[in-house]
Amino acid sequence: MERMEELVKLLNKYNYEYYTLDSPSVSDAEYDRLMQELIVLEKKYPDKIMPDSPTQKIGGEIISEFDKVVHNVGMFSLGNVFNEDEILDFDKKIKKNLHNVEYVAELKIDGMGVSLEYKNGVLYQAATRGDGTVGEDITHNVKTIKSIPLKLSENVDIVVRGEIYMSKKSFEELNASRKENGLPLFQNPRNAAAGSVRQLDSSITASRKLDSFLYHYPLTPFKTHYESLEYMKKLGFKVNPNIKLCKNIYEVIDYIKKWTELRDTLPYEIDGVVIKVNDVTKYDEIGYTAKVPKWATAYKFPAQLVLTKLKDIIFTVGRTGMITPNAVLEPVKIMGSTVSRATLHNEDYVVNKNIKINDYVYITKAGDVIPEVVSVELSRRENVKDFVMIKKCPICGETLVKPDGFVDSYCLNDKCPARNIEKLIHFVSRDAMNIDGLGERIIEDFYNYGYIKTFSDIYKLKDKKEELIELEGFGNKSVNNILENIENSKNNSMERFLFALGINGIGAKKAKLISKQFPSIEELSSASFEKLNDIKDIGPILSRSIVDYFSNDDNLAEIARLKELGLNFKYNGKKIEIDEEYSGKRFVITGSFDFINRNEIKDFIEHKGGYTSESVSKKTDVVIVGKDPGKKYEDAVKLNILIWDENVLKSKLGLM
Ligand code: NAD
Repeated sequence: MERMEELVKLLNKYNYEYYTLDSPSVSDAEYDRLMQELIVLEKKYPDKIMPDSPTQKIGGEIISEFDKVVHNVGMFSLGNVFNEDEILDFDKKIKKNLHNVEYVAELKIDGMGVSLEYKNGVLYQAATRGDGTVGEDITHNVKTIKSIPLKLSENVDIVVRGEIYMSKKSFEELNASRKENGLPLFQNPRNAAAGSVRQLDSSITASRKLDSFLYHYPLTPFKTHYESLEYMKKLGFKVNPNIKLCKNIYEVIDYIKKWTELRDTLPYEIDGVVIKVNDVTKYDEIGYTAKVPKWATAYKFPAQLVLTKLKDIIFTVGRTGMITPNAVLEPVKIMGSTVSRATLHNEDYVVNKNIKINDYVYITKAGDVIPEVVSVELSRRENVKDFVMIKKCPICGETLVKPDGFVDSYCLNDKCPARNIEKLIHFVSRDAMNIDGLGERIIEDFYNYGYIKTFSDIYKLKDKKEELIELEGFGNKSVNNILENIENSKNNSMERFLFALGINGIGAKKAKLISKQFPSIEELSSASFEKLNDIKDIGPILSRSIVDYFSNDDNLAEIARLKELGLNFKYNGKKIEIDEEYSGKRFVITGSFDFINRNEIKDFIEHKGGYTSESVSKKTDVVIVGKDPGKKYEDAVKLNILIWDENVLKSKLGLM
């Protein structure tokens, strides 16, 4: 039970990082390994399966900034098989229902799933998979992707599904330019694609060179999947040219062998092969689990592992003071690049994996960026030295703290140079103050030369202009450029500034959410814990973190200096006028209204500080009921939830 709980907690954390933040901290191989461990335990103890187990739900959290889209047919994940035996097992299960099974074998494109709805042949709506039932509306962004037709060759109403991906080349170009600008790198093309599509500003999506392959027609009138694909091609969708109709499972296995060899020759990443039963008419009979269809599965390629010697373990300090142990490796080539460092995550990871200095270790790469030590080759162990977790910060010497329940240790010294450099790098980064030209290296140099120690020093750089021009690698033009970008950043809307401050737990999305409710830094800095805690999605930990931040005299003094220097402290977007009747409350809308549309009702509620959601639960405060209400109305009655009918709504809107 303990291990199951531990796995559920860990995998849910990884899901959040992966699906919501588009920024995983462990490799897919490590994730899949833990998931398999959980599946085995759950099979053994089926009555102990936890309701929040990641085996029971699809994907990640829905971010409130996007409109929600209810999928007309659920979007599924896929089951996994990892070797030939498991593929043959899958075939055996299918044959319980069917004889002479044909399969369609397809490359498993490593991108992000998307659902496209066309009305009368015209692209009407595009949505992410979300939790499988409700996704996020990404229509504006998807319209910028050239290979997705805005108009089909026939005037049909159709929903199709497929993958949005980024080619290896575009991914490399994107990361190269991010590196140059000191921005955090995307870990692999899949996260880059997902991060690019889930942007509120569609011009960013347009600049990211995304592509698509469509592979599913959920309500197809055709008898076979292969015919659906042919039809989709005819309509103008890009369908992968390597899809193969296989007469039996052995042809599928040959296909897998072929693409395991040829994988690197493709211009886009694949992480396996999807096997689908061709006869669509049998899908319902074969059935579904809560999360995956039983008529398809995904063969996952084994993670690429290479063996090398771990020569030493060193420690780095992050912006929040988090200490990460890193392996110093005998340089080795993996997936096309030479690697000499790999993350070891934290103390527990090193101890649990029994990793020692001088060991031979297997490393893998989570996509293209963070190499990770996966395991030790014990047969080659000799002359090893035990790993010892440091007790003091390697940069400033402060005693480290490991808070209760945390796996990481922290340096809590606000003056630690390592932390301060990371804080400054974060402050100028793209989603924060977005100061182009102040890349990581320049920040580090300016810090070491003593030009910038604090955020406000950045805005005083203009007084040192002549000195900066004299520095090696700088000139009049580049310095002017940086100074201009610094000046421009003063006008940023509050949410960027709030995110840039680096308050623990406040990411870019949370910063926006908070800024809508407290539309100036002054208002936020005097907000009480209770008021903050009332905001949906801002829990007590975050509220405490904000209150603590604004109670610290050093922080307040720095904020006052920044204000003095002319930074904008106000939220420039549409702000929320808090109304007690709505604030923090959850509303559900059902039925139709002829005097107003649903989005207008939603806007009205949200601008008074309330939230709307798609389903009724005990947590719902009010259900707004129009004509021909659905099941939500019955649920509201059953749960005894306050109901507003059309007349109540009209009076709230001031229409009567
Ligand atoms: P999945 O990616 O393993 O498979 C399902 C998805 O494959 C579908 O939703 C679809 O988008 C995609 N797909 C690509 N080509 C396809 C084709 N030809 N036909 C049908 N579907 C196709 O499942 P998932 O639920 O999206 O993600 C789970 C996986 O994501 C894990 O196995 C793991 O590898 C990774 N993950 C990693 C972390 C991490 O922290 N590293 C966290 C969560 C998930």
